[in-house]
Amino acid sequence: MRRLPDIPASPSEVLAWVGDHLDGLATGPVLASDIRGGQQAADTALASFDVAGYARTRNEVWPVGRRGASGLSPYIRHGLLDLPRVWRHVGAGPTDDVLRFRDELLWQEYARHVYARLGDATRRSLRFSVPEHLTRTDNPWLSEAACLSAGWTELTERGWLPNQVRMWLASHWTVREEHGWRDGEDLFFRHLLDGSRAANRVGWQWTVGALTGKPYGFSRWQVTKRAPTLCATCPLETCCPIGEWPEQEELSPRAAVDSRVRRDPDVEHTAGPSSDVVSGRPDAVWITAESLGDDDPALAHWPDLPAVFVFDEPLLRRLRLSTKRLAFLAETLADIATRREVEVWLGDPVRVLTDRRLAATFTPVPGWRTRSQQLDIVALHPWRWLVRPHSGPVTSFTAWSRSSGGIRG
Ligand SMILES: Cc1cc2nc3c(=O)[nH]c(=O)nc-3n(C[C@H](O)[C@H](O)[C@H](O)COP(=O)(O)OP(=O)(O)OC[C@H]3O[C@@H](n4cnc5c(N)ncnc54)[C@H](O)[C@@H]3O)c2cc1C
Repeated sequence: MRRLPDIPASPSEVLAWVGDHLDGLATGPVLASDIRGGQQAADTALASFDVAGYARTRNEVWPVGRRGASGLSPYIRHGLLDLPRVWRHVGAGPTDDVLRFRDELLWQEYARHVYARLGDATRRSLRFSVPEHLTRTDNPWLSEAACLSAGWTELTERGWLPNQVRMWLASHWTVREEHGWRDGEDLFFRHLLDGSRAANRVGWQWTVGALTGKPYGFSRWQVTKRAPTLCATCPLETCCPIGEWPEQEELSPRAAVDSRVRRDPDVEHTAGPSSDVVSGRPDAVWITAESLGDDDPALAHWPDLPAVFVFDEPLLRRLRLSTKRLAFLAETLADIATRREVEVWLGDPVRVLTDRRLAATFTPVPGWRTRSQQLDIVALHPWRWLVRPHSGPVTSFTAWSRSSGGIRG
């Protein structure tokens, strides 16, 4: 393990820093996205998002100017914008747009609840049998078809995709081409700046039918509707490989569904503390990829303590994230360092942090739970849920919503 030098402030220098210090842990060329990391970028993105028109334009795809989605997901994923804040931000907008937008925030919360409750069990198809891994190694997104190749290019060069294109690519991968969904999910995760196991796995499971039993079919019809100029540019326009709906086999319900999908036997464990649990004076705040915002409860509570971030070397070696993701994280850390002391380390987080008395925000993901149990966390702060987890079903978004209590917006 080693402490890394301070991260420079300018984006091009950040990229060089990633190349110098995290090289060998990432996949692909050292390239950054045009989406900037950092609290200032997140605040600017939120301030400039106007929800008016969202319901009508959220699913538009190409040309880019037609898109009405907010693009806030990288900031939401890393805790730079928490869901209650984003919920409040749109409050004064037109009713239809506000309802539609808030519904999507609830999808994010639903995915977080599923992951908080089931953790690594979300690697398996939760309710219906859909193959997770197959031995095929070809990439069906590497196609001459403009809808697929444009999606693949945006994913790999920008690290972001509109929801529609995520559904198109995921459906094409599994429903039409019959690849295992976990392999596609891993490829998304490698590139998406907002890549989270929570939303990515729920998104894939929903699209391929593992959650609902009804796979989403992708054909030319959606492209014509959502990207009307695209087919005219496509070399396969007259021999379109997605002209018809994909054949769909009926999915069988899984013989043994994890009982926690229907009921959470330990909702307090899932949700974490609802108030601060402080047993001593910490000497640093431990921050992770989930807790990089100025409003993070632990960071906000201890403004005078250094923040410590560990690039988890064993994990990164396994994940092989794209450099875009690492550059986004590095830029965000450099931005925090303009307001408080930040230590950046490379190594195993438990070994790096072992002798420190830490403040941290409870984080409902399996990796945080296992590491935190081995650390001396003397000040634990609650996660900012939009809706506090309940013990009712997470079988579907609708069933989950019915059991959900009040919003904390
Ligand atoms: C196959 C697949 C994989 C996905 N992987 C991820 C992922 O790794 N990380 C991720 O954050 N989202 C994921 N999503 C959900 C969704 O596509 C993105 O959150 C959304 O496209 C982000 O763009 P936006 O910020 O402009 O969204 P907007 O439409 O502006 O919505 C605002 C916010 O609501 C949340 N949201 C919107 N739609 C969804 C949804 N369907 N599920 C969960 N949250 C949603 C996001 O936090 C988003 O930033 C995935 C969806 C699919 C179908």
